[in-house]
Amino acid sequence: MTENGDATPLVRVENVNKNFGALHVLRDISLTVSRGEVVVVIGPSGGGKSTLCRAINRLETIDSGTIIFDGKPLPAEGKALARLRSDVGMVFQSFNLFAHKTILENVTLGPVKVRGIPREQAEKRGMELLERVGIATQAGKYPAQLSGGQQQRTAIARALAMDPKMILFDEPTSALDPEMVQEVLDVMIGLARDGMTMVVVTHEMGFARRAANRVVFMSEGQIVEENTPDEFFTNARTERAKDFLSKIL
Ligand code: ADP
Ligand code: MG
Repeated sequence: MTENGDATPLVRVENVNKNFGALHVLRDISLTVSRGEVVVVIGPSGGGKSTLCRAINRLETIDSGTIIFDGKPLPAEGKALARLRSDVGMVFQSFNLFAHKTILENVTLGPVKVRGIPREQAEKRGMELLERVGIATQAGKYPAQLSGGQQQRTAIARALAMDPKMILFDEPTSALDPEMVQEVLDVMIGLARDGMTMVVVTHEMGFARRAANRVVFMSEGQIVEENTPDEFFTNARTERAKDFLSKIL
């Protein structure tokens, strides 16, 4: 429950199915995410993790079932859909920054264009967010001049600039050189501590143990197991999860 006492789940995914042609990629998925909760989604490649994330902010449509966000079914179009996209931030493996905009411009573009916030105000807040993720000194540079870790921290600041109700992270550290992984995870751990609702697809156990309230193991389009991080990593219940863990640990 959050400070304002709202105990309704922020996201409720119910019996969702999704097919790509003959491929049944989400099989009757049900998942609830509470406000302020951090859910780590883990599982083999091709299991439907990205599709599930994309379905939650409607980058992907679903074939059956329902997704309720903040008490309402996902909107299909128009202003309500734009609003949903800014309420649900997304951070991808591949940063997806605008190459020809500076770091600060990357962070202010959404607030100015989508939210109609005056540029000066967006820049002030943008600098605060760059400060928060530790890259304020890079504000005037272009993405290619930054390291991967700095670019991903920019992507996190950009998501935060929209004042999202939650952030979906889809393998945010998978494309990074090993020495840059922790600086990104540290920012994410900070967000988790500050109460941000987060769904994080990652195989980073250290992050899961420190920040996750729950681990969801997905395989072949199904949620096979939901567990606390400690239980999941030391004492997984299902053979499929045990088998997966034996390969990544
Ligand atoms: P994960 O993120 O767990 O690796 P994905 O959600 O990316 O899994 O993919 C699940 C399955 O759906 C995979 O077999 C993938 O090839 C397939 N898939 C994903 N997106 C598309 C698409 N746009 N068109 C066709 N198949 C897709
Ligand atoms: Mg994926």
